[in-house]
Amino acid sequence: PTAIHWLTRDFRLGDNPALAAAARGPMRSVFFIDAQLLAQGAASRWRLERALRDFDAALRQRGDAGVTILRGEPHELLPRLVAALGAAEVHQSDWPCPAMRASQQRVDQALRAQGAQLVLHPGHLLIHPRLLRTKGGGAYRVFTPFARALRGIGADRPGAGAPPRIPTAPGAGWPQSVALDGLDLAPDLHGGRAVLDAHALPAGEAAALARLDDFLDRASEYEARRDRPDIDATSGLSEALALGEISPRSVWAIAEARRRDNPAAADGIAKFMSELCWREFAWHLLIEFPQMAERAWRPEWAEFPWRGDNADFDRWRQARTGIALVDAGLREMRVTGRMHNRVRMVVASWLTKHLLTDWRLGLAHFQDSLSDWDPAANAMNWQWVAGCGPDAAPFFRIFNPERQAERFDPRGDYRRAWLGPGAAGALAYDATLPPDWRGKGRPPADEGTAAIAAGRQRALDAHAGFRDA
Ligand code: FAD
Repeated sequence: PTAIHWLTRDFRLGDNPALAAAARGPMRSVFFIDAQLLAQGAASRWRLERALRDFDAALRQRGDAGVTILRGEPHELLPRLVAALGAAEVHQSDWPCPAMRASQQRVDQALRAQGAQLVLHPGHLLIHPRLLRTKGGGAYRVFTPFARALRGIGADRPGAGAPPRIPTAPGAGWPQSVALDGLDLAPDLHGGRAVLDAHALPAGEAAALARLDDFLDRASEYEARRDRPDIDATSGLSEALALGEISPRSVWAIAEARRRDNPAAADGIAKFMSELCWREFAWHLLIEFPQMAERAWRPEWAEFPWRGDNADFDRWRQARTGIALVDAGLREMRVTGRMHNRVRMVVASWLTKHLLTDWRLGLAHFQDSLSDWDPAANAMNWQWVAGCGPDAAPFFRIFNPERQAERFDPRGDYRRAWLGPGAAGALAYDATLPPDWRGKGRPPADEGTAAIAAGRQRALDAHAGFRDA
């Protein structure tokens, strides 16, 4: 039967059940530039476009006509596309975030009215999210038992590899695709795309598989070094996972096989697999509590007097807090679209604890700036740092950014790379600045030290439970 593959965040040929189902007969892959996409952040759209180009080329190499890119809403366009092909099914890899859920419901209704149907496939997660329930049948709120349950059931096995040939459905009445040449999904990107292009990691499925392989070779160092932003010790797979250039089930299966074969790296690989469980936990929480990006998980935090938009927040956005590790991280994000996990925690803690500024402002800034933006991971981690998330244990933590820098950037290499006069990172950062940000230096170091003390006091005054950590 003729079918449509509705491409969302599954830019891969291997372990892609939606694509495999569509490719059983003549098919077309379509991608929509719709309201849901345009509401995503600029850096994320910039990175998605790279994934889209790579996937289009991969389809063409298998004899397919490539992705048809259309501007407009799926529930209006898909019924017409289904009619043009005489198709009965639209296959989609389920990306279970609230905006996509809303879109799926509208599409489902419109297709049913026409006697066709939307078929959702797994592949974005290790395991179907509804399978993991507590003994009482509820959702998990704490990571450790969640991860134990996940390991108990085990990740789903990856599905088939890349289909050998992808048969294109003949398309009389099929619309013209928006041309990939000149396509710019992120015209609103700060400073233009040149800086991010220059600092990009290779995109696409083959690059993700190669990156995983390379990482697993050096995974024995992961546990000891993963918190060091001055060392390239982590996998760098978050963009590929966020966009589905590689499936988490494939990552899990490959990592598991290497863990068994290489005892020297077994602990490092196990730790890496536990990070994949954090990704899964974030999605578990978002599915359970779709308002996670908008509301504190813990109701008692609804009344907390966070500061709204303010001058300190403005300086934070501009990487001019005067706190070296915080400013370095914010610069790294602006120039590369990425930020080391440890630094994300320190940057987020500075905004929420020392500056007592609403975590949702930070979340929105990360959403706009991160090339690995993931609605679940971003929301869970911001709530976790702010202290209002479900896993209560660290809610009191006030990171001291100077101590964090001493521990995790002991030689100062990371900070120098982004702040040092004449450093390549600092120059690249300057090149991204809009005119009204230019020439506004960072405060002197002693002001930063004073701000740490003042911010700490502000946090202690604001909440009886906050404590140094
Ligand atoms: P590795 O250390 O190699 O980890 C492997 C994979 O595990 C990652 O690629 C990622 O998919 C997953 N993972 C690791 N840590 C976490 C975590 N804490 N939560 C959820 N998944 C995790 N990650 C995103 O992918 N998108 C986001 O939008 C995002 N926003 C964040 C916001 C804040 C405030 C914080 C503190 C963390 C955020 N993270 C986010 C999590 C984490 O920082 C990144 O996943 C990690 O830095 C990516 O680098 P890596 O691929 O080399 O990670």
